[in-house]
Amino acid sequence: MMEYPLTLKNLLMRNRQLFGKKEVVSRNLTGDFRYTYRDFYQRVCKLANVLTSLDIKKGDKVATLAWNTHRHLELYFAVPCCGAVLHTLNLRLSREHLAYIINHAEDKVIVVDEDLVPLLESIRDQISTVKHFIVLDDTGNMPYTGLEPVYSYEQSLAKAPDHYDFPDIDEWSPAAMCYTSATTGNPKGVVYTHRGLFLHAMALTNADSMGLSEKDILMPVVPMFHVNAWGTPFAAVWVGSTLIMPGKKLDPPSLCQLIEQEKVTASPGVPTIWMGIAQLLESGAQYQLSSLRALVSGGAPLPEALIRKLDKFNIPVMHAYGMTETTPLVLVSNPKSYMNSLSVEEKYRLGSRQGLLVPGLEMKVIGENGQEIPWDGKQIGELWLRGPWIAKEYYKEPETSRETFVDGWMRTGDIVNVDEEGYVLIVDRAKDLIKSGGEWISSVDLENTIMGHDAVVETAVIAIPHEKWQERPLACVVLKESEIEKVSKQDILDFLRERVAKWWIPDEIIFVNQIPKTSTGKFSKRIIREMYRNRELQQQ
Ligand code: AMP
Repeated sequence: MMEYPLTLKNLLMRNRQLFGKKEVVSRNLTGDFRYTYRDFYQRVCKLANVLTSLDIKKGDKVATLAWNTHRHLELYFAVPCCGAVLHTLNLRLSREHLAYIINHAEDKVIVVDEDLVPLLESIRDQISTVKHFIVLDDTGNMPYTGLEPVYSYEQSLAKAPDHYDFPDIDEWSPAAMCYTSATTGNPKGVVYTHRGLFLHAMALTNADSMGLSEKDILMPVVPMFHVNAWGTPFAAVWVGSTLIMPGKKLDPPSLCQLIEQEKVTASPGVPTIWMGIAQLLESGAQYQLSSLRALVSGGAPLPEALIRKLDKFNIPVMHAYGMTETTPLVLVSNPKSYMNSLSVEEKYRLGSRQGLLVPGLEMKVIGENGQEIPWDGKQIGELWLRGPWIAKEYYKEPETSRETFVDGWMRTGDIVNVDEEGYVLIVDRAKDLIKSGGEWISSVDLENTIMGHDAVVETAVIAIPHEKWQERPLACVVLKESEIEKVSKQDILDFLRERVAKWWIPDEIIFVNQIPKTSTGKFSKRIIREMYRNRELQQQ
């Protein structure tokens, strides 16, 4: 066979040759915008010329701080196809973490949406490697900004030539990178190679996974800064799906209206989004959503109750599982052909399992004794993975990498059981993090902050279930004896309000006499969670 490089250039060129007539629709700040892939390609070439004129070279990092729009899609291809690395910045990170990852990745250019300019300005003094800022000016007016040097995206493209010779790139070259939250401290970077993204995109088109195809009208609701919108824009451009970019308005009525207007067939997003849509429909709102073949739900567990609710409105949900480190697709829950005779209830139950391993990857589940567990749907262990789109290390983090990447495998930190058919169910999380609305909160960082309060002896933060956000933090706090009558929950909350992002503030503070410990003296979050479930967490 030929030694053929698996790079994103192939995806872009196939789209150019075959799908010039198909459309991309983008809900921008100024309204809905629509163009063809033919126009898209021309602008990708122009953008590549702009980047070259800014002296962007192979391996340089070009960061984006942006919503899901057609301009962000142009960056998805222009940046890696000219040899640079697309670093998508998570706009929900704290300012401190945002500045950290920009410096750590050594971003050379930041391309920012007009309305996010103030966020970037607020950390300008802390970032040291950025040479240029480009504003995605949608309104036609460049905002007044202290960022320097700064260029208008639209004006730069208007002046640039519309031809570009995309170079041949080694398939192992970095194409993109994302950072993911650590249990504590700074986020960790994951670098995606061209080869990894190519093979992952191919997996998304597999009929037994998401089955993305030319016939799809795909609306990625999952942000483009969250594991490259799960790789779906790459696959969609490759196979020529119509792409609907929903922009910044992700409230249920806006999304339903867009699904109805564009006849969306598939849409990936976190369960919190789909919960919002289910509630809107339950409230009696009327939308024509019959075009949907799948809402793809990932990033957090898909509750059986949600599958049931959406089924009442004939909306099918496909449950998927993955991580930043896994590009992300790993598991998809599709029933096997001989499972047609399952009862509706059994199908709901199956759908709430994270599903079957997608072709191309390998998994094993390691129990507490270090041995692989049997697939009996009962015994539990940690899910380990390997394969061509699984990371092998964290970017510039040899120490942390050694804990996660072991003997050619990646430890996911997710505790699972596997049934006889191979369907994986996540039952717990070994990593000490809380996932609220698809975004991470570090329980350890919250604990450290609460411990900074003079009246606090010790504290443990756990995730508790929440109908809308799936998980929210609850803090168990032990006060110094002398402070017991003097310090209120409100005092702790006020203390936190000045120190952590608003959405990190715990929903509940419970004062307790002591925190349950394991035999080795560590906080036993498992016991605390169990006590919470059994309503045994007593207020002191
Ligand atoms: P991230 O790197 O932010 O995408 O987060 C990955 C983590 O989210 C996984 O290790 C799981 O803990 C969790 N996760 C992702 N998808 C699912 C799912 N379908 N069900 C349960 N947890 C999930």
